[in-house]
Amino acid sequence: MTVETERLFVEGIWRDAAGTFDDVNPANGEVWRRVADAGAEAASDAVEAARAAQPEWAALPHDQRAKVLIQAMSAIDDLQDTLVEALVDEGGAWIGKAMFETGYATGIAQAAAAAAHMVTGELLPSDHGKLSMVVREPVGVVSVISPWNFPLLLSMRAVAFALAVGNAVVLKPSEETPVSGGVLVAKIFEAAGLPPGLLSVVTCSRDHVAEVGEVLVSHPAVGVVSFTGSTAVGREIGALGGRHLKRVALELGGKDALIVLDDADLDRAVGAATFGSFMHAGQICMATERILVDAAVAQEFTERFVATTAGLTVGDPRSNIIGPVINAKQAGKIRRHIDDAVAHGATVRAGGGNDGLFFEPTVLDAVSPDMAVWTEETFGPVAPVITVSGEEEAIKLANESEYGLSAGIITADEDRGLSVARRLETGMAHVNDTSVYDEPNAPFGGVKSSGLGRHGGKAAIEAFTKTRWITLERGGRLYPF
Ligand code: NAD
Repeated sequence: MTVETERLFVEGIWRDAAGTFDDVNPANGEVWRRVADAGAEAASDAVEAARAAQPEWAALPHDQRAKVLIQAMSAIDDLQDTLVEALVDEGGAWIGKAMFETGYATGIAQAAAAAAHMVTGELLPSDHGKLSMVVREPVGVVSVISPWNFPLLLSMRAVAFALAVGNAVVLKPSEETPVSGGVLVAKIFEAAGLPPGLLSVVTCSRDHVAEVGEVLVSHPAVGVVSFTGSTAVGREIGALGGRHLKRVALELGGKDALIVLDDADLDRAVGAATFGSFMHAGQICMATERILVDAAVAQEFTERFVATTAGLTVGDPRSNIIGPVINAKQAGKIRRHIDDAVAHGATVRAGGGNDGLFFEPTVLDAVSPDMAVWTEETFGPVAPVITVSGEEEAIKLANESEYGLSAGIITADEDRGLSVARRLETGMAHVNDTSVYDEPNAPFGGVKSSGLGRHGGKAAIEAFTKTRWITLERGGRLYPF
């Protein structure tokens, strides 16, 4: 299916943009599409359209809103081939990742449809016999700013839940993946019958990101900003939001640990490490970026992990699990991390090389905690391994990070695994699994420099609604004069 990408979806109409920008396929460096380039004016129009459309949407019975989300599920299924093509061609996704992501987007729409039925309040006892109610109401307009690594999934998780609970949304996808993270999200909700104005998509180039971002955060009609991206930009969005007293949900970077304890099932541990480190070439916020293995099993684990890693092929993502990384800036950072580690005494046990944006999946051994590859987010197919003596050292080292998103713990003892999970400074922890895990009904998010706020399930209802206190006086309260 051919999709029009050179116009903007604002107020339910595909309208001309002031210009276009190049959407490049990272696998071959060619321009894949030209995409509408919005500026501050289009962003402002989108917020105004959202403000105008939202009250009627919020006033609908909730099952009517849920119905649109259910129709969005069918629309995603109908668009699946187009979605997969965009995820592969503009995002460099391995075909299996693209299939997973479209399936997961359907699951998000389903969970969001359920959320429309789940916005609840409270009745409070009142000193004066009033009917005293706590109610949750939509915030009005939600701005969604999303990244390129899981563009469809990460746009959908905010857009779908924000709409379900009665808001209007303005979405700004990444300039690296404007079609899979934006244009096609507009297509999904257009096909689902969402009334005009409730979702606008302002694709824009790097040159216009700051001005569009400024409008999406500071416009008086915006009630909540949902930002997913790097910690550096998240801090800027948080600071701008603070100046305008906006609520912000910030889902940021990570440096997630996988802890392999001395009693671990090594098949499970190697599977978790391989998937966690190399899925989507390591370009996942929850990617396993630090592996801490107990000395008792370190040698065997590392040998088996290296052998599995060596079997992963690199190249065209239509036929290889490891495709290109997204751009030259990311490639430069990954190269720097590998080279710095080697210069400081790490050993390359698998991979280590790259051809432009294509990196061999790399296992680094004899890593030390002061290396950049251990402290900074790499966002590439690089797995640094450190040997530890016992779980206390593993927990201490895992917690010595500015980040705190997710973690995995592999052990044969479930109680031990849960006890380690409870002691990790992360927003999420998974026993006998990799750090890479999400479900649409679970509260997803991090602590420390990994962010503020949560997406998913009930947490998303809280994120996209405001609490109000409403009372009804019934003669119990007397005035003194
Ligand atoms: P990024 O911060 O460069 O960009 C994210 C989004 O912010 C993009 O849409 C970009 O255009 C926009 N942006 C950039 N500057 C802006 C500005 N001044 N004002 C408004 N918007 C602006 O991140 P990225 O490179 O797209 O994504 C990778 C990062 O995202 C990694 O750090 C990764 O860990 C993180 N991430 C986090 C999660 C999570 O849920 N915690 C999920 C995926 C990715």
